[in-house]
Amino acid sequence: MLNIDLHCHSSISDGVLAPAQLVERAAQRGVETLALTDHDDIAGLTEARQAAAAKSITFINGVEISVSWRGRTLHIVGLDIDPDYAPLVEGLAKVRAGRAQRARNIAAELEKIGIHGSLEGAYTFVGIRSLIGRTHFARFLVEQGYAKDVKSVFKKYLVKGKPGYTPHEWASLSDAIDWIRGSGGHAIIAHPGRYDMGKNVLNDLFDEFSALGGSGIEVVTSSHTPDQIQHFGRHAQERNFLVSCGSDFHGPGESHFDLGQLPEFPYGCTPIWQHWKNTASAELIE
Ligand code: AMP
Ligand code: MN
Ligand code: MN
Ligand code: MN
Repeated sequence: MLNIDLHCHSSISDGVLAPAQLVERAAQRGVETLALTDHDDIAGLTEARQAAAAKSITFINGVEISVSWRGRTLHIVGLDIDPDYAPLVEGLAKVRAGRAQRARNIAAELEKIGIHGSLEGAYTFVGIRSLIGRTHFARFLVEQGYAKDVKSVFKKYLVKGKPGYTPHEWASLSDAIDWIRGSGGHAIIAHPGRYDMGKNVLNDLFDEFSALGGSGIEVVTSSHTPDQIQHFGRHAQERNFLVSCGSDFHGPGESHFDLGQLPEFPYGCTPIWQHWKNTASAELIE
């Protein structure tokens, strides 16, 4: 089975390892093709690409864009993007610009329940200041003893209906897809099983995503149970979506899946890399 991982995070966003360290770990785990997909930023791609070349890993430029759609937050992964494409670069800068104010809002919410100093605390875990996000708050809350690990934090804090939650407006779905497609890349709905939406709303999302030029969905991800992998594999086949796979690795001990060595796609799915035929990366994969 191919050892391909198309979704992971470095310390540029909310991962723990620097891009080169992440690639080093991927190499140790036998990953042959890797995409780095930091949240709303592409600043780690150059370092990761160089490290990957030294390890003979095929490297795919990626990003995970935060999107607001019908009052929900979605994540859209862009794969095989051109990091020099100006609308993408400028669009991501705009998305990042909202994070500082949101962080202040989160800290104000936590203050209301007597958790002090979370803004400064969260920033101590941040690599690039403009990328401050909930994971950094979560690490601060763990450090302060409010929960035993990052996963447990998200059961009690920082999510809708819990202390530390604050609504936020990210990119629109159509903008995110346009930036990705305009740069020559493919847009993928990340971890569809994680969104709290019923069947009808999910169908609407898939319809709209398709109409806007989206390419596919993540079927294999650490967010999905084995049943969800089968379920979304069927969805993909029904809709002629390409399928993608990624660990969504954030750091040793923090993520459900380590890099690479992922479960296989359900039979009959068409992997995203079959459509990279015109790029240098595809030649290496085949
Ligand atoms: P943000 O983009 O700042 O809203 O942060 C989103 C990030 O928080 C995700 O990419 C995950 O890394 C993390 N996160 C969200 N929900 C959970 C969860 N239930 N368990 C662990 N991490 C989570
Ligand atoms: Mn994350
Ligand atoms: Mn995500
Ligand atoms: Mn992710």
